[in-house]
Amino acid sequence: MHPSAALARIKPSPTLAITTRVQELKRAGVDVIGLGAGEPDFDTPDFIKEAGIKAIRDGQTKYTNVDGTPELKDAIAQKYLRDNGLTYTRDQISVNSGGKHTLFNAMVATLDAGDEVVIPAPYWVSYPDVVLFAGGTPVFVAAGADQNYKITPAQLDAAITPKTKWVILNSPSNPTGAAYSEAELKALGAVLEAHPHVWIFADDMYEHILFDDFKFTTIAQVCPSLYERTLTANGCSKAYAMTGWRIGFAGGAPWLIKAMSKLQSQSTSNPCSIAQAASVAALSGDQGFLKDNSALFQRRRDLVVGMLNQAEGITCPLPEGAFYVYPEISGLIGKSTPGGKRIETDEDFVGYLLDDAKVAAVQGAAFGLSPAMRISYATSDELLIKACTRIQEACAALR
Ligand code: PLP
Repeated sequence: MHPSAALARIKPSPTLAITTRVQELKRAGVDVIGLGAGEPDFDTPDFIKEAGIKAIRDGQTKYTNVDGTPELKDAIAQKYLRDNGLTYTRDQISVNSGGKHTLFNAMVATLDAGDEVVIPAPYWVSYPDVVLFAGGTPVFVAAGADQNYKITPAQLDAAITPKTKWVILNSPSNPTGAAYSEAELKALGAVLEAHPHVWIFADDMYEHILFDDFKFTTIAQVCPSLYERTLTANGCSKAYAMTGWRIGFAGGAPWLIKAMSKLQSQSTSNPCSIAQAASVAALSGDQGFLKDNSALFQRRRDLVVGMLNQAEGITCPLPEGAFYVYPEISGLIGKSTPGGKRIETDEDFVGYLLDDAKVAAVQGAAFGLSPAMRISYATSDELLIKACTRIQEACAALR
C-alpha cells in the first residue's frame, strides 16, 4: 500500500507547518514570535458564541441539509445582497466546512485532467495544490511588488487558453494584502467577457478587513455579465474570528452548487450544525465591530510596514487589506549570516530569522513569488514591535 497518485501531487500546507513548528518551539521554552498564522488574534464575539451555545441547548445537534440549513442560506443571501448587491437564492448557495472546503468542492466537482486554472502569484498556498489534487493544471501569472501584487488585464488575457476552466481572484489577497479597485476589477472583467468558457472563482474571504476607506467590490457585482459564471466565495473565518468553527460558503450557478453538494454528500456531509447556527448570528447580527477590527489592523499595518522599511535590504509595500504584509527581500540575497551561512533564497532567510532572531515568518517561495516573505500582523502591538526590532537587527547583522 502506498499513497495515491492524486495525493503525491500535493504537499502539506506550508503555513500550517510553520504554525506547528512555532508551537513546538514555544513548548520547548524558546522565546519565539510567530508571525506565520493566518487568523485574527482576537476571540469570536460573544453574541456569536452565545448563538452556538443556544443551538446546543436547543438540540440543533443533528444532521442538517447537506449544503446548509435554510436559515443559514437565507442569512448568506441577505449578506450578499447587503454587502455586495448580489442576489442569490437558496439553490444558488453552498455552505461548506470552511473556505478551503468551498475551494476544494468547486475544483474537484468541475476539473478534469488537462483543465487549466489561472492563479495569480503570489497566491494562497491552497489554490495550486487543490487544483493539482483535482487533476487540473495551475497556470501562474506573476505579479510582483512593482505592480502592487496585482495582475494586469494583458497578463490575464495572455494566460487564458482554450483549456482554461477557472480564473481565481483573491481580493484582498493572502499573502500580500493587495486589493483590486472597482476599476481594476472591471478591466479584468472586460478580458473575461471575451472568453465565455472561463469561470471565475472570486475568493472574498478578507472582504471586511480593509484600510483607508478602500471600497470593496467583487467581480460579479461590478461585471454583471459575469454573474452566471462566477462563484462568489466567502466565509466566517476571518471577519468574525471564527477560524475554528469551519464555515465557508459560496454563491453561484444552481448546477454548480448542486455538483458541489453531491460531492459534499459523499465526503463530509453537512458542515457542523452548531457552527451553522452561530454563523446565522454572525452574518445577521450587528456588523459594527468589523470596522473597529479593520481600524485595529490598519494601525498594526502602519506599524509593521514602517518598521520593516527601516530594515536593511527589505522593501515593504503598503497593503490595502487583510492582515498580511509581503515584503520583498532581494536586497538580502547573497549576504552571509554571522554564522557564515550564505542567504541564497527566501527560505534561507526565514530559516535564519527563526534560528537566530526567533521570529517565524513564511518564505515567499510557498506563495509562488520570491524573494519575499509573508508576515501576519494579527498579533499584539507589543509583539509586533519586538518582532520587527529583531528583524531589523537580523538584517543589520548580515554581511
Ligand atoms: N481563502 C483565503 C484567501 C484564505 O487565506 C483562507 C484561509 O487562510 C481561506 C480562503 C479559507 O479559510 P478557512 O478554510 O479557514 O475558512
